[in-house]
Amino acid sequence: METRPFKAKVGLELHQQLNVGRKLFCDCPIMEYAEAEYKILRYLRPTQSELGEVDPAVMFEFRKNKANIYIYNSKASCLVECDEEPPHPINMDAVKAAITVALALGSKVVEELHVMRKIVIDGSNTTGFQRTVLVALDGVLKADDIEVPVQTISVEEDAARLVEERDDAKVFSLDRLGVPLIEISLAPIEADPKTVERVALALGRLLRLTGFAARGIGTIRQDINISIEGFPPCEVKGVQKLDLIPKIIEYEMMRQYHLYNVARLLKEKGLDSISSIGEYVDVTCLFEGASSRIVRNALDNGKKVYGIKLKGFRGLFKMEPYPNVRLGLELADMARAYGLGGIIHSDELPAYGISSEDVERVKAYLSVEESDAFVLVLAGERDYDALSALRQRMLRFFEGPVPETRGPTGDGRTRYSRPRPGSARMYPETDIPLIRVTRELIEECRKFVPKPWSEVLRDYMQKYGLNEKLANQILDSVYLGLFEKVCSMTKLSPTLVAVVLTEHLVTVSREGLDISVLDEGMLFELFQLLDSGRVSKESVIDILKCMCKEGVSAGDCVKRLGLKPISEEDLAKMVHETVVSNRAIVESLKERSFGPLMGMLMEKVRGKADGGKVSRLLKEEIAKLLQNI
Ligand SMILES: [Zn+2]
Repeated sequence: METRPFKAKVGLELHQQLNVGRKLFCDCPIMEYAEAEYKILRYLRPTQSELGEVDPAVMFEFRKNKANIYIYNSKASCLVECDEEPPHPINMDAVKAAITVALALGSKVVEELHVMRKIVIDGSNTTGFQRTVLVALDGVLKADDIEVPVQTISVEEDAARLVEERDDAKVFSLDRLGVPLIEISLAPIEADPKTVERVALALGRLLRLTGFAARGIGTIRQDINISIEGFPPCEVKGVQKLDLIPKIIEYEMMRQYHLYNVARLLKEKGLDSISSIGEYVDVTCLFEGASSRIVRNALDNGKKVYGIKLKGFRGLFKMEPYPNVRLGLELADMARAYGLGGIIHSDELPAYGISSEDVERVKAYLSVEESDAFVLVLAGERDYDALSALRQRMLRFFEGPVPETRGPTGDGRTRYSRPRPGSARMYPETDIPLIRVTRELIEECRKFVPKPWSEVLRDYMQKYGLNEKLANQILDSVYLGLFEKVCSMTKLSPTLVAVVLTEHLVTVSREGLDISVLDEGMLFELFQLLDSGRVSKESVIDILKCMCKEGVSAGDCVKRLGLKPISEEDLAKMVHETVVSNRAIVESLKERSFGPLMGMLMEKVRGKADGGKVSRLLKEEIAKLLQNI
């Protein structure tokens, strides 16, 4: 795929939940997914900044006119999260964690901590703002051979968790609201997508080594600013998986490059936005007797069909130079973000039950000529903002890529989510006095600064006799704690334990099984069975699969799979009989008869006897027989 003429500039902003026992501005414990006991209902209103402007992102959310419903459990949330009590003093353990990270990155810790309020109005905070504290500035992150400047390190409160999005309301759970987060902003770098992934990995590793990082799904989120040379960045918010980072960057580069090309093409045609993009025309009357189900449904719901002509745009909407990169998709994603079903453009018609006669009628009505295109939007009276935003977007097709906030789709693509917020979004939190950062505090944190990853890795390889790949994998794994526990409490080889917790689990999850049902207790029991010889290492994958499918313990799986191990005595007998009954093979192949005989035996005892043991017994039996010949 050719994306060459441009280099991407990528800025990472990492958000990591801190594992410091309690929330940032109250004493509530950190408990995800607490069952809901109470419910509160709020509508948020946009407030103006000091300059009297209302932020475009704020207006975008406000105009959706949705209620916010907050559900919570009193064990996980208190009056602070409900915004019915002022915040308590800041959790100093979270501040210490951030100072520790700052020291590890060589950043300058500020002398005074000022708690600020950052406006958010998507409903994810009951107060309408998020509290944030700048802890350090500058610094350098080293990732292998590259150095990335650090801009800021802050501590902030996590947002409430969106659990349901309905037509009339958003439902949030307050369990996550107020959980301390560290936010690290890196300076934008010009680098290939894979390198950016390595940078994100290095930063994640540093955080984990401090011991302050919370583990598990959703505890780490990346915001990625991506721009092509000479254009403003788009921000992709909330990327949770590291391996999506390069895919997202590549997709954004292609998407932005296509937008650049479209603008260039329009210019070459001598077109400009004002004369090219028409006004909306109500074309509902042309569809009175239409057979299209989408159109019929919309009309039955009191909506209208609006048509807009785009001079010289014929063919541009369906042009797809890269997978899932199309102008049509730009508008359709935006329409969806504004709550409309989507848009219909002339490049894809006739389709959706809209006939070529319908198309001709629209073309005549809108004076659409051969080289032009048109877009149909099905919208109601209240959708004025959506219509206006879509037309604004069309006008800006002449500019190339435009700044937006986008979200990841999970497959490496991104999708429009809202306009980019303006910059005037912070004001001081008056409920909390400033905190002085003392020399003593910094010295206390210095003790927690971890060793560099390369040193930790080397120590680990030495201590457990792991190879480098396996040591990296287990250090990156969420099961690191379990690995250490199993190694200290059993006689199992650390390499075997590491292979089970990394490669075997990957194998099982690649088969589409949900390994998240395996908690540490269940896995620990499996290792105990292995350690006692009641389970052979050959049967581990089958047992893991059974545990995931059935949601039962390793012990139960052994029974269900009929994996009762063969006794030492029976095994010896079986090996002896196999050798005797295949005497001819042993006599002709001598020691080399081991291979075929081992194959026969393992066929019979797989999962019920340890391969090493079988091999030892077989070698002995073969030797015995050969001596007697
Ligand atoms: Zn609380």
